Amino acid sequence: MSSFKTLDDMGDLTGKRVLVREDLNVPMQDGKISDDTRLRATVQTISELSDRGAKVLVLAHFGRPKGERRDDMSLAPIAPALAKLLGRDVAFIADCQGGDAVAAVAALPNGAIAVLENTRFHAGEEKNDPALSAAMAALGDLYVNDAFSAAHRAHCSTEGLAHLLPAFAGRAMQAELEALEKALGKPEHPVAAVVGGAKVSTKLDVLKHLVARVDHLIIGGGMANTFLAARGVDVGKSLCEHDLKDVADAILDAADKAGCTVHLPYDVVVAKEFAANPPTRTINVHEVAADEMILDVGPAAVEALGDVLKTCKTLVWNGPMGAFEIPPFDFATVALARTAAALTAEGSLISVAGGGDTVAALNHAGAAADFTFVSTAGGAFLEWMEGRELPGVAALTA
Ligand code: ADP
Ligand code: MG
Repeated sequence: MSSFKTLDDMGDLTGKRVLVREDLNVPMQDGKISDDTRLRATVQTISELSDRGAKVLVLAHFGRPKGERRDDMSLAPIAPALAKLLGRDVAFIADCQGGDAVAAVAALPNGAIAVLENTRFHAGEEKNDPALSAAMAALGDLYVNDAFSAAHRAHCSTEGLAHLLPAFAGRAMQAELEALEKALGKPEHPVAAVVGGAKVSTKLDVLKHLVARVDHLIIGGGMANTFLAARGVDVGKSLCEHDLKDVADAILDAADKAGCTVHLPYDVVVAKEFAANPPTRTINVHEVAADEMILDVGPAAVEALGDVLKTCKTLVWNGPMGAFEIPPFDFATVALARTAAALTAEGSLISVAGGGDTVAALNHAGAAADFTFVSTAGGAFLEWMEGRELPGVAALTA
């Protein structure tokens, strides 16, 4: 990754109009914000720019209005929520481009903060339409992208603007890029990757990218069953993509050639039904009955995997090791997460994790706070794990 400019490179900001792309796409329930994690992630960049005397103009999308103005997808209610978190006034400007918006920005005092209306109310946003990018750019002197989670999309507000205005990474973006660089860009070896979750098919590109880069590939979750099946194990009624056994074999071969050790579970926890606290058996992978499902990695394998982590300097983790939402199948995920957290806390491991269910699982384990970095970006994190160039990041480093 070539280097990018940060807020440290912005110089004197007094009176400068700074367009800041943030992720304000918070989940709502009955008109209330049900999780403000994304809003909290914006505070550092917005306060710093405001403190430095800039007019801070926050750009973001909300929902999928598909190029139409939709009252239920307005960002207007987000402005007061943000004001509360920032402890400062936040104005709302009813468009992210156009003459009225230019005038509203001109009327703001230095240091003021404003949220601009949903970028996706304009059809050009998702098409990266140069005319819309130019109209947005007319509102600002400088551009800051602080929304890693939207960086896998080449839209006007995430990519187009970076070519029209001097472009910088915000503090949240900077932290994310630095963590990802440490985990997979230029990591300290040995590197371990934990890849779990439901299906191989959703993470094929991740697995292919990782085998060439990591020293240990730990495969858990439902996707481990496909690999076990490829190795001739009868996985019974387990979630398994039998049509992908050849692909799994090819990944194992590629790992072998690259000198990457693949760790598959050798003991597992099985049940006949997918329900809370059903009767279970902890058995060798070769003992799964025809009517049983593998729902978690077994304790012997978990202990061995913990020992593997102890020999590693870097860990990147995506996907739970078992069906962690249902007890007792959270055991392997929780135990391994706590081992990784403890090794990180004592300074012997750099640990970076991401993925919607992964974040939930690490929180459930009480391990997230001790990880070096936990990414809340879903799609962007996975695309980065696939080794793809994210257009919003590329535009900052061009
Ligand atoms: P992430 O969102 O972190 O990328 P995924 O969406 O790929 O993770 O996978 C999470 C899902 O995988 C969870 O709902 C979990 O229950 C499921 N899962 C994990 N192990 C198993 C298993 N052995 N059998 C069935 N489902 C599993
Ligand atoms: Mg998921």
